[in-house]
Amino acid sequence: MKKIKITVSLLLIIFTLSSCSQKKIISRTEFVLNTVATISIYKNEGTEKSETIIDNAFELCKDYENILSRTIETSDIYKINSSEGNQTEVNPQTAEIIKKSIEFSELSNGAFDITIEPLSSQWDFHAENPVPPSKESIDNALKHVNYKNIDVSQNLITLSDKDSKIDLGAIAKGYIAEKLKEYLKENGVSSAIINLGGNVLTIGQNNNKDFSIAVQNPVLEDKNSLMGKLMISDKSVVTSGTYERFFYYDNKLYHHIIDPNTGYPVDNNLLSVTIISDNSTDGDALSTSAFILGLEKGIELIEGINGVEAIFITNDNKMHFTSGIGTDIIFEKID
Ligand code: AMP
Ligand code: MG
Repeated sequence: MKKIKITVSLLLIIFTLSSCSQKKIISRTEFVLNTVATISIYKNEGTEKSETIIDNAFELCKDYENILSRTIETSDIYKINSSEGNQTEVNPQTAEIIKKSIEFSELSNGAFDITIEPLSSQWDFHAENPVPPSKESIDNALKHVNYKNIDVSQNLITLSDKDSKIDLGAIAKGYIAEKLKEYLKENGVSSAIINLGGNVLTIGQNNNKDFSIAVQNPVLEDKNSLMGKLMISDKSVVTSGTYERFFYYDNKLYHHIIDPNTGYPVDNNLLSVTIISDNSTDGDALSTSAFILGLEKGIELIEGINGVEAIFITNDNKMHFTSGIGTDIIFEKID
């Protein structure tokens, strides 16, 4: 429930910031992809047409969830994960997102790794009294986490270690947001925001002005306040943060971004990383990657990629920017 409340407040903030000068926005919120998703069409050619487009976009979102979820038993990912090392034929989109994921594993030196499933599935953030898994089960799972165990040959996926399993939680929302954007644009939408649980992708401008997208304060006690606003058009804003999914045990916070070297939640001085990029698949994969790499190596990674910027927030509540924030990307701090 906590997660939902946080996300809803973020949604409201984004909505308020970006809607001031607008008369007619067609918007809908649904619970999909295990999160709260909102699609808002700003410039529309009639309520009825926009409502139909939004209906279809949510259907499309569910179609993707049905092939990419690790828990839906008919999904491609479920099939791969229960294949015991045998070849699995999947939809081309599944092969595409897996191939992309492997590229990000290579780019991040293995920090980003979708074979994290044997570990990520052990952490239950929704349990009434969550407890960390035992060291023994973490160490056992760790042996099967290695993106090099995935073989993609056209639409055929094989896991060379039969106990390796895939979890697309760090990239699927960005990938699906891109597919929704494609669908909206094909249907004549020229101004919109797709928000899949805080994974935000904007289309065009808001009444000839940039969209204003909030960056949330990641400090738990201040979670409803903002660090600032990004002024963007046709860009994606994705955040990975400790506040998104976590529990406390013995006064220690355990969150959902796992270090594939240790098997435990990443333990560095970061609270969140926000990536601003053209493409939301990249933004999603990079926010998780940069978070795991930490402040220094994370900034280095992002600085090395053209057209991508980032805001890192450390546990002293300080912001650290890549070089294009304030020049290529307008960011208005809130004190
Ligand atoms: P995000 O919120 O995009 O940073 O993604 C976090 C989610 O990605 C977690 O809830 C897990 O499902 C998954 N995940 C956790 N650690 C990793 C990792 N090292 N590499 C790839 N995916 C991960
Ligand atoms: Mg991510």
